[in-house]
Amino acid sequence: MVRLKKKRTAFVLYSLLLVLPALVLGGLHWHQIWLDYRAELDAVPEAAREAARRLAYGISENLSQLLDAETARPFHHYAQIFAIGDELDASLSLHYSPLVREELPEGVLAWFSYNLADLNDEKVGLFMGGRTPEDEADLQSEEPDLVEAAERLMRRNEHDGFLRRAARLGTVETVESNLVPVAVNRAQNDEAECFREHMELLNSVTVPINYSQFHLRFYEEPGGEPRAIATRWIVMDEFDPLLIKHAPCLEMLRPGFGLVQGMFLDPYWLFAELPVQVSDQVFSGSERFQGDESPTANPAERAAEYRFPVSLVRTLGFETDDDDTTFGDINVVIDEGEIESRFQAQSWRFFGVAAMLALTLGTGMALLMRSVSRELEQAQQTENFVAAVTHELRTPLSAIRLHAEMLLEGWVSDESKRDEYYSRIVRETGRLSTLVERVLEKARLSSKLANPEPGDLSDLVTSLKLDLEQRAGGDGADLSFQLKDGLPAVLLEPDAVSSILDNLVENARKYALPPATRINGSGPIEIRTGVHSGQVVLEVADRGPGIPSEELEHIFEAFYRVGNEVTRTSTGTGLGLHLVAIHAKSMGARASVEQRESGGSVFRVSFRGA
Ligand code: ADP
Repeated sequence: MVRLKKKRTAFVLYSLLLVLPALVLGGLHWHQIWLDYRAELDAVPEAAREAARRLAYGISENLSQLLDAETARPFHHYAQIFAIGDELDASLSLHYSPLVREELPEGVLAWFSYNLADLNDEKVGLFMGGRTPEDEADLQSEEPDLVEAAERLMRRNEHDGFLRRAARLGTVETVESNLVPVAVNRAQNDEAECFREHMELLNSVTVPINYSQFHLRFYEEPGGEPRAIATRWIVMDEFDPLLIKHAPCLEMLRPGFGLVQGMFLDPYWLFAELPVQVSDQVFSGSERFQGDESPTANPAERAAEYRFPVSLVRTLGFETDDDDTTFGDINVVIDEGEIESRFQAQSWRFFGVAAMLALTLGTGMALLMRSVSRELEQAQQTENFVAAVTHELRTPLSAIRLHAEMLLEGWVSDESKRDEYYSRIVRETGRLSTLVERVLEKARLSSKLANPEPGDLSDLVTSLKLDLEQRAGGDGADLSFQLKDGLPAVLLEPDAVSSILDNLVENARKYALPPATRINGSGPIEIRTGVHSGQVVLEVADRGPGIPSEELEHIFEAFYRVGNEVTRTSTGTGLGLHLVAIHAKSMGARASVEQRESGGSVFRVSFRGA
C-alpha cells in the first residue's frame, strides 16, 4: 500500500512538473501557429490592395517621368518649323522642329498639335519622331488611323469649351514671349512669307503665354481601338488689335490664341508591358500580376489564389467616358497555397518536436517508475532481512537462555537430560554463528576480487566429500556422489566451490529431506559433475518440494525467500543462494536452478573453461 502510494506520488509530481508544463506550452505554441496562419490568410486582401498600390505607383512613376520630360519641352517645338532663338529670320522654313527629327520616347506613338482659334481651315499637326518633313506623306500612309484620330480629337475638343477646360486644369507656367514662336507655331508653310515680311514688328511685341499641365485621357474609338492620350493647352493673352493692320497674318491669332498639344501614348505598352516590368520589380514571392487576357487555366490552382481586380485606366488617373471599358484591367493575384504549405511545414515541424518530446517524457517516466520500483523493492528486501535476522537471532538466543537458566538454577537433575540441554545450547550457538558468518561473508564477497585457477572439478568435489558427509552430524547416507572423470579443466577457486556446495547441500537437507516434504520413495541428494550444454557443471539435485516456477528468477537475489516470514516454517536468512550466485560469479561461472523432472529441483553451476 505504502509502495503504491509512493509510486503514485512520484508519478503525479512528474506529471505536474514536466508533463503538464510541456502540454500547456505545446498547446500555446500550436495555438499561436494557428493564429498566425489565420492572420496571414486574413491579411491577404489587404496585401493584395497594397501590392496593387505598389504596382500603380511604379507605373505612374514611369508615366510621370515621360510627362515631366514633355512639360520641359518648349511648346513651339510641337511644329514642323520653328524659329531658333525665338527670332524670325529669312531662313525660317528651313528650320525643322527638333521634335520632327527626335526619336520617339518609349511608350509614345506620335506627337500632335492643333489650335482651336480658327477651326474651319485648321489642320492637325501630327508629328512622328525620327522623320523629316519629306516623310510626312509616309506618315499619312503608315499611320492614317492616328492622323484621323487626331483630327477627331480636334473636332471633339471644339465642343468641349476649350478655354473653360484649360482654365479649370490650371496653369503650370506662364512665359513672357514675343509673338514669334506663337506665330510660327500657328503658321503653315504658306504663311511663312507674311511672317518674314513683318519680322521686326513680330520680334518687338511681347505677350504672356500660359502652359497647362498634361491631362491624361483614355477612350475607345468606335471601332474598338484603344487610345491613351496626354494633352496640354497653351493659351496666349490677347494683344493690341492694331497690330493686325500692320501684319495681316496675325489675324488668326486674335481671339486669345490657344493650342492643344500632346502625344498618343501606346496603350499596350502602358497597360500591359509596363505593368509586367514593374510587377517584376515590386512584387514579392507570393504576389503575381495577371493581365486580363491570361486567366489561370487550372481551376484547382485558382482555388488557392486570392485575386484583386484593378482598373489601371482609372487607377493611373486617366479620364474616361467609357464606364464599362475593360481595357487595362488586371488582377493582382496572391498565392494562398504558399501560406498553406508554410503552415503545413510548420505543423509537421511542431508535431515532430512534440513527438520527440513525448518520447523523451515517456522514457523519463518509465525510467523513473523503474528506479522507484527498484528502490522500493530493495527497501522491502532490507526490511525482510532485518525481520529475518531479528527472528533468526531471537529464536536461538531465547533457547540458549532458557536452557542455560534451567541448568544454572538446578532444575535439571537427570544426567542425560542435562547433557541434552548442553548440546542444545551448543547447537543454537552454532546456528547463531552461521548467521553472523553469512552476513559477514556477503559483506566480504562484495569487496573481494577472486583469483580462480584452472583445475579439475571432480577432483575438487572429491576432496570436499568427507566434510560434506559429516556436516549436519550425519553419516553421509543422505548424499550420493556421481562425479565424472577426465572433465576438461575449468577456472576454480576451492573456497568458493566449497561454500557453494555447503550452501546447496544444506538447503537440500533443510528443504528436501524432511519427511513431510519428500516426494514418495525419493532417494538421496545427488551431487553430480559432468558436461551440460557444452559446459562443465556441478549439480545438486533433490526430490524435495522444488521451487515454484514464478519464484525461479528471484531465488538468487539477496534476502529472497519463498513465501513470507509468517507462513514459513523453515529458518533461514535468504542469503545462502545469493552467496552461491556471488561465489559462482567470482569464478566467471554462473548459477541457475530448474525444476527437476518428476519433482524436486536441480541447482547447477556452469563453469568457464580454463
Ligand atoms: P534460506 O535457506 O536461508 O532461506 P537461501 O538463499 O538458501 O535462504 O534460499 C532461499 C529460498 O529458496 C529458501 O527460502 C527456500 O524457500 C528456497 N530453497 C532453497 N533451496 C531449496 C531446495 N533445495 N528445495 C526447495 N526450496 C529451496
